[in-house]
Amino acid sequence: MPAGLSFEGLTHAFGGAPVLKDVDLAIEAGEVVCLLGPSGCGKTTLLRLAAGVERPTRGRIRLDDREVAGPGVFVEPEDRGVGLMFQDYALFPHLTVMENVLFGLRALAAADAQTAARRALARVGMEAYARVYPDRLSGGEQQRVALARAVAPRPGVLLMDEPFSNLDRRMRDLVREETLALLREMGATAVVVTHDPEEAMRIADRVVLMRKGAIVQAGPARELYERPVDLAAARFFCDFNEVDGTVKAGRADTPLGLFPAPGAPDGPAVVCIRPQAIRLRAAGFCLPGRVLARRFLGELDLLEIAVQGLDAPVRARLRGNPQAVEGAEVGVDIDPDEVLVFAAPSA
Ligand code: ATP
Repeated sequence: MPAGLSFEGLTHAFGGAPVLKDVDLAIEAGEVVCLLGPSGCGKTTLLRLAAGVERPTRGRIRLDDREVAGPGVFVEPEDRGVGLMFQDYALFPHLTVMENVLFGLRALAAADAQTAARRALARVGMEAYARVYPDRLSGGEQQRVALARAVAPRPGVLLMDEPFSNLDRRMRDLVREETLALLREMGATAVVVTHDPEEAMRIADRVVLMRKGAIVQAGPARELYERPVDLAAARFFCDFNEVDGTVKAGRADTPLGLFPAPGAPDGPAVVCIRPQAIRLRAAGFCLPGRVLARRFLGELDLLEIAVQGLDAPVRARLRGNPQAVEGAEVGVDIDPDEVLVFAAPSA
């Protein structure tokens, strides 16, 4: 049965300074949550505490209504009934791929276990490797087997640390979609650690953004992308063009003109312009600019444009506009809906 998972006032220190500070988070049964944040912010530690491979310094963890960690309470990892896929939970080298997956299915009758293991391997495209030993597999193949091993027992809660990190792009898309479909089918609750915002946006019902051991913002991906709580959170999701400005009465004044700045306090501000907010017009219209460089990136081209009044060039992501070649004079127009304004960080 899928179970919810909650952390209450969770604090954890390795010796000195805490790496998790008073974390409160309730994950609903069947929810897929991504823990996202810069390296060292505590994502893996939170997952390890949930798994029971680490004891929290303070606070409680509940799986459904059962307290699994708290004052005087500690349930061992194997008794928590959660599926784990951690980087340091490597495959057993002396067991074949099939035996590795069967290991998590010891509770089932042999025939049922075989069926479940084969199905799990098929979902990650590894059924042909059933008799192979892990040392004959690439890193990505091992990762897919580890994924199959974690999901085969159909646990109510799955904890996964960077589960798709070793896969090439095509395989990552494929395995990610398969994993997501499987999670949905099982109705499983999943907590997935990633440092890749795009991955988090793709798979999570809710993204939990962490920084320095604390939760900065949690919500559906669109909310974090469109309404980040602060400049650092915004920077995590988009490689903005940042322009200094001054906010007065809900409007930001910049060398590129005025932008709406609802909610931003009066005073110095950073105006964040998404590269896709920039549109090109014929020279003579809008802001005068000159194309410094144009790079082909596939679906969109990346342009660097010098704009009158700005020291640094702006980056635009565009398709079409064949006249906008290096050296061309252009008019630059900015979609105000793709602009965010934050108070300038104090120096
Ligand atoms: P990454 O994305 O790089 O894996 P993370 O957000 O998962 O980072 P954690 O692995 O949770 O971060 O680490 C958080 C902090 O705790 C880091 O500063 C790390 O050095 C420290 N840390 C983690 N495990 C231990 C340990 N066993 N002993 C001492 N310090 C640790």
